[in-house]
Amino acid sequence: MKSRTKLWLVILISIVSSFFLFIIFTIISGHIWNNGYDLNELNTISQETLDTIKQKNALTANEIKPILYEVHNQHPALRYEWISSDGSTIFDTSGDMQSYDFNQLAERFINMPNNLWTENGQVSLIYSINENEQSYYLLLSLPSEAMKPGQTFLFVRSLSVLSTLILPLILSFLLPYFLSLLFFSSMNRRISKLNNALGQVNIRKDLVVLNDNSKDEIGQLTQHYNSMAQRIQNQARHIEQFENKRKLLLSNLSHDLRTPLTAILGYAETIHDGLYRDENALQTSAKVILQRSLYINKLLDQLLDITRQDMDAFKLHLAPHNLSEMLEKIAEEYLLLLVDQHFTVEVDIANEDTEVIMDASLVERAIRNLLDNAIRYGKEGHYLAIGLIEKEDEVWITVKDMGKGISEENQELIFERFYRVNEEASAEGLGIGLSIVKEIVELHKGNIQISSIPFQETVFLIKLPKK
Ligand code: ADP
Repeated sequence: MKSRTKLWLVILISIVSSFFLFIIFTIISGHIWNNGYDLNELNTISQETLDTIKQKNALTANEIKPILYEVHNQHPALRYEWISSDGSTIFDTSGDMQSYDFNQLAERFINMPNNLWTENGQVSLIYSINENEQSYYLLLSLPSEAMKPGQTFLFVRSLSVLSTLILPLILSFLLPYFLSLLFFSSMNRRISKLNNALGQVNIRKDLVVLNDNSKDEIGQLTQHYNSMAQRIQNQARHIEQFENKRKLLLSNLSHDLRTPLTAILGYAETIHDGLYRDENALQTSAKVILQRSLYINKLLDQLLDITRQDMDAFKLHLAPHNLSEMLEKIAEEYLLLLVDQHFTVEVDIANEDTEVIMDASLVERAIRNLLDNAIRYGKEGHYLAIGLIEKEDEVWITVKDMGKGISEENQELIFERFYRVNEEASAEGLGIGLSIVKEIVELHKGNIQISSIPFQETVFLIKLPKK
């Protein structure tokens, strides 16, 4: 059953049951608080009295006296007056013997039974009989307190009073239902929205964001839905990016492997077929084969790094090391390498004994990656500088070149895995080097920054804590 149908059913049942309850409570409360005579009872008593009078043909004061006294004894609140047609009282149970004129008696008849009040706060009823061709009147009066309060209230006013009573009653019955109906329909609407949105959660589709800032349970549920949908979409985007990168890596890799392999195959075939000109040409071919093989070896190393990165396999083996010494040793190697390539190499290590607690082989790898990049991508500047500055709690390592540099929008991206600036021109690596550098630095709780002015200076700055 739909909640809307349930709601209507509940409302219907509650309206019917509240009407029943109302009736039952009215009867019970009537029994408790609504005591006294009602109009029917008074009519019955009076009618029985008149019947006795008729039966006994008791018309004179002496004849009527025992009959009316008997009734009066049974119902002391009731006052009976026996009146002749000219208005004079023949007998009065109160002993007052008041006389009436014709108008007074006629008025009593006219007002019955809608208005039974007399001016002195009494309720009075009048009955007439015809005996021996003469009219007699039986006048009944009682104090209003002796009447049932409900009856008094109704007969004080005209019948139209009923509508003024019943209308507010109905309204007061219906108002809570209308309010709850409004409340439930708004809840229903919110739940339906949530339901629809949940049904539409799909990683391929746009996110449906719901606007419900109320603090109740549905509001909270909506907030949870919003953050859940957001998370799902972020993860989907993440997976998509990852998938794109994986494809990119594969295509880079196959391209990067095929190029040197073609060269190797070509030169190897020449050697194999004995088609080289002289010993010199043989040496050149062997050199190219060696270079290209080394390059393939490097690519395979990088591939291994990717797998290691995926498995979080960079484990730190921390120990105190002399960073100055390590940098000097590396710098010497690069000096030798670049000596006949018209490169200016500068080494600026202020303190000879800068000791740092680190994983020496990982830090060395990070620095070599930066130096290789500076030579590879910044070779137009023919300049390479390595620096080490010691601060209070940290050390700053800089690698500087004067090449074409890295544009501002690329500076953030180059640390991402597989990201390479300018795909076509530089088929040199897998776009993994800097992401490894960053990972190593962050494992040491340090950070890496970059600043670049093309052909002036491109600086990578690694800050490492000493301990
Ligand atoms: P790869 O392993 O392919 O060299 P890296 O992550 O080391 O990738 O570098 C990412 C990109 O950053 C490179 O494609 C290169 O374009 C750019 N880059 C890195 N270092 C430098 C540099 N010193 N000067 C200019 N560009 C650089």
